[in-house]
Amino acid sequence: MSYTGPEFPPPQPERRPGRPRRAPVVVTGALVAGALLGWLAYEAVGASGNGSDAQADPTGAAAVTSAPASHSPAAHTSASPSPSADDGKGKDAGTPASGPLRGRVVVIDPGHNLGNARYTAEINRQVDIGTGHKECDTTGTATNDSYPEASFTLDLAHRLRTLLEQQGATVKLTHDTGTRPWGPCVDERARIGNEAHADAAISLHADGSAPGNRGFHVILPAAVHAGAADTRPIAAASHRLGASIAGSFVRVTGEPPANYLGGGTGLVTRGDLGGLNLSTVPKVFIECGNMRDATDAARLTSGSWRQRAAEGISEGIVAFLRES
Ligand SMILES: [Zn+2]
Repeated sequence: MSYTGPEFPPPQPERRPGRPRRAPVVVTGALVAGALLGWLAYEAVGASGNGSDAQADPTGAAAVTSAPASHSPAAHTSASPSPSADDGKGKDAGTPASGPLRGRVVVIDPGHNLGNARYTAEINRQVDIGTGHKECDTTGTATNDSYPEASFTLDLAHRLRTLLEQQGATVKLTHDTGTRPWGPCVDERARIGNEAHADAAISLHADGSAPGNRGFHVILPAAVHAGAADTRPIAAASHRLGASIAGSFVRVTGEPPANYLGGGTGLVTRGDLGGLNLSTVPKVFIECGNMRDATDAARLTSGSWRQRAAEGISEGIVAFLRES
């Protein structure tokens, strides 16, 4: 749960053992302050601003009808089921010719897959995540009204892709509507980002915790080195990416940092996720809210809220890329 990397200037790669510093503690404080500042700013103005989305669009039905039309996978840069097709040929398709992020590559990983439930043998297969073995993939959670996390993540991915492409970025999804019946496995999800040489990668999720637990959190990769996993080279940059996203997410959506983990920072560091352990590019996960909490569920099922969620994530990625 500890946050081990600084938000701002890159850390000294090798801290001298004889000179222990309190930087992680200080930086944690700065992060907390930064994230909460955004939240407090929202709290101060949210009532008169755009913070009433849950009331404006409380039903899942509205969310469904407001979801964007399915993108044609062929028209975008969706992952192919075959890693061998991930040769960069597709990633230039549809890339805008201009924009501040021209030439930058972002990989978006929509967590889970709506088809996973029908392929239990495939997704239960164990894959090597460096620190151990885990299921290839999982089905994800759902709201009490059965809005699946996999639908949420895919819709959010489409919205986020549009925003980043408007900034000139080249965007690749690890999977998309109709590209594959299940998965990809978590190791392949990481590999797709690696092979795309992504400047930033993000895996999109919503949590399935107990009612009353609410808020978002960004999951940062711990610095692990075991087997095929070595996140030491990307840990610091990933932490900057995550902090940037957390700050903009709280500001744009008004969603509070999780009240059930992360100590109110909206940031959690983990070393047990294959999608992070196997990444060689800066990468984070975001759990946008708790699908099993009624307040959060009203937001997660709102198309207008998902649009703001995409904007918050996009702004965090853009700020990270413009500083790196
Ligand atoms: Zn998930």
